[in-house]
Amino acid sequence: MADYDFLIVGSGFAGSVLAEQITSRLNKKVLIVDKRNHVGGNAYDYYNESGILVHKYGPHWFHTNDKNVFTYLSNFTEWRYHYHRVKTYVDGQLLPIPINMDTINELYGMNLQSPNEVQDFYNSLKANIKPTNAEEMVVSQIGEDLYNKFFKGYTLKQWEIHPKDLASSVTARIPTRTNRDDRYFTDTYQCMPKYGYTALFEKMLANPNISILLNTDYREITKLLNFKKVIYTGPIDSYFDYMYGKLPYRSLRFEHETYAYENHQSWQQINYPNDYDFTRIVEWKHATGQVHPYTTVTREYSFLADDKSEKYYPIPREENNTLFNKYKSEADKLDSVIFCGRLADYKYYNMDQVIARALTIFNNQINV
Ligand code: FAD
Ligand code: UDP
Repeated sequence: MADYDFLIVGSGFAGSVLAEQITSRLNKKVLIVDKRNHVGGNAYDYYNESGILVHKYGPHWFHTNDKNVFTYLSNFTEWRYHYHRVKTYVDGQLLPIPINMDTINELYGMNLQSPNEVQDFYNSLKANIKPTNAEEMVVSQIGEDLYNKFFKGYTLKQWEIHPKDLASSVTARIPTRTNRDDRYFTDTYQCMPKYGYTALFEKMLANPNISILLNTDYREITKLLNFKKVIYTGPIDSYFDYMYGKLPYRSLRFEHETYAYENHQSWQQINYPNDYDFTRIVEWKHATGQVHPYTTVTREYSFLADDKSEKYYPIPREENNTLFNKYKSEADKLDSVIFCGRLADYKYYNMDQVIARALTIFNNQINV
């Protein structure tokens, strides 16, 4: 029987950061097991059959205000500094999203010149309510018309739940601007790993004390190993055999298409709130900076995950948090199992938040 200090379930950012810290700082032995045929979790990227670097599980734009996270990741990659910009297709026009001064001027044929004028315009539209859900979050800032055009259709496609029944934090991810800033995020650090995410993970996991077992569900091997602790980064309800019922997650279907010419759309990402069944189209080369005579785009379709599909998004709404808390109280009883990550914490984390959480868990629960 092989001996390990830690069995880590999942090789996404949560599992990989913890494996890296445990081996490099504590010199312990770790086995990472992942049921997929690659490391990196949802951030995995690969060169497709035409040689274009593509993110297998949807667009991963790195952005953070957390200097620690940026410094930590910089140990494993050089960066391509790049501001992420997104357009949205509304009323036959490609407009900046998040909504800003130019969005308003182009949409309504206005000529607002200063942030104060734009704020006055929002004030004339917005509902005077304290937001309690994803619809009210938007309507309380910019009113019904802009909500209907930019948010309602996209949110319905992405979640198949009325925005009134989703947590306000979902649409709060997208700010409203009064200036002309057309970056999707305003974080201090916005960039892409220069050689891709998979190359970053390979460096992160290079310590000889890390063993990796792919194509394997951890349940198949636990009886064949000796280990002292488990770090679990998969769906929390699955760990407990759904004893309180299933937590809902959103899944995605990706439609990749490669064209025998250099450039297909002028933007890294175009959102489609009101047209088509997909939510967005990404053209990878804008973000990766790859120079290639061909180009690949990816369309995303969202659906409710079933037993056979990959789980990508926890669904932020109160009844789901209540169910999650039941699992969390079971998790808290287990001294030898640590839960960490987007699926295990059932939180709509970005990559930097998962990395920060993994580093905190290492410092507070493992390196003690
Ligand atoms: P995951 O990456 O999901 O890794 C979990 C791993 O556990 C998986 O590899 C899985 O195969 C494995 N696993 C699960 N169950 C088992 C089992 N029983 N046995 C063995 N292995 C198992 N974040 C950003 O910061 N910027 C973005 O632009 C961005 N875009 C995103 C776009 C999409 C479409 C999605 C889905 C997410 C996006 N994210 C983005 C979020 C980002 O993907 C996550 O925050 C991060 O990857 C989560 O890492 P994790 O390790 O918690 O989970
Ligand atoms: N959203 C929207 N219209 C957009 C972009 C986002 O309504 O053009 C809403 C939608 O509810 C979406 C949420 O804001 O699910 C968060 O958007 P984000 O781009 O952060 O989604 P992710 O990249 O995580 O899928």
